[in-house]
Amino acid sequence: MVESDHRLADAKAMPIEQVVNLLGIQGLARAGHELVGPCPSCGGRDRFGVNLRKGVFLCRRCDAKGGNIDLVMLTMGMEFKAALGWLVGPSQELSAEERRKREKRAEQNRLVNEARAARERQDAIRMAREIWADGKPAEGTAVREYLSRRGIAQDLLPVMPKCIRFAPALPFTVKSEKGWKVIHTGPAMLAAVQGPDGMLSAVHRTWIDLDRPNGKAVVTDPATGEVQPSKKVIGSKKGGAIRLSGNAHQAEVMVMGEGIETTLSAMVSGVDAGAMFWAGVDLGNMAGRRRTRGEGVKFAGLPDLEDDEAFLPPACVTRLVYVMDGDSEPRLTRAKLLAGLRRAMLKRPGLKGQIASAPQGLDLNDVLMGKAHG
Ligand SMILES: [Zn+2]
Repeated sequence: MVESDHRLADAKAMPIEQVVNLLGIQGLARAGHELVGPCPSCGGRDRFGVNLRKGVFLCRRCDAKGGNIDLVMLTMGMEFKAALGWLVGPSQELSAEERRKREKRAEQNRLVNEARAARERQDAIRMAREIWADGKPAEGTAVREYLSRRGIAQDLLPVMPKCIRFAPALPFTVKSEKGWKVIHTGPAMLAAVQGPDGMLSAVHRTWIDLDRPNGKAVVTDPATGEVQPSKKVIGSKKGGAIRLSGNAHQAEVMVMGEGIETTLSAMVSGVDAGAMFWAGVDLGNMAGRRRTRGEGVKFAGLPDLEDDEAFLPPACVTRLVYVMDGDSEPRLTRAKLLAGLRRAMLKRPGLKGQIASAPQGLDLNDVLMGKAHG
């Protein structure tokens, strides 16, 4: 059965995104290296995910999962043999004409899916801008008390950064099968995420509950009983940052932590008053796409240089210091930070990248003073 082995290999070698497009599966939105949306078998809104890097899919509801051939079986309701034939042709080769027809169909579906993803992205950016425009100055609001409880007292941060605002009653929504539903409304800290061009591209939101010691709201989805993260981003954060130490400020040293609190802690510790302090929103954004295929590559911290939307510091920066949070999984965190720093060093000749392994003032100071190993 050499022939069928060959067809199996052909089917497996196809990028799963091409199979999604050949099948014309609709309603999937891109989220990083995943497509998320309704299950082609059992529907819903976001229970179905396709991992484009791993070439696998999974439905959380009907438990369908697998690779390219399984996806054809699920979507077309076919048996294995028929699915294999559908995907790579009958045991003979596809005719040149049939191959062209299929390629054309896949390309058309790809364009439709891309156009939808672009529309959804624009909608999210528009919503982010509306939330930001509705925000109030944060000084004298619950945001002050929240930051104090996170160790950033008023005397350390006398002037509230312009990129932080306050929303007195911000709805917290989750996706349900009937669309978005509000499961909580309450005060929130807003932070502007600005893209490389300085335009507001996303808003980071932290729901506040000052009745709790750490000041963070605990929001539970009544439908599932699941506790939701108290922080969410709406819009497009890719390549963006929360510019905590000001917009027009130009400096040679940039210190970037993942979260607002980590980065503010570094900023108020006084380690380098001349540095720029920007929060990277999340680790994935600081890292950009990484190369993860192949033996020993997962933790090697190699950037995928084809990711041209990944974060890069402004051109004035000659030293980029990534702050590594102490509470994350160290190997993977380090790999991600290294990937981001290496990309920046490759794209900005002369730039030095460093990791500050601990956010405490003294250690960070050592790094900034050029003493550390990072
Ligand atoms: Zn399903």
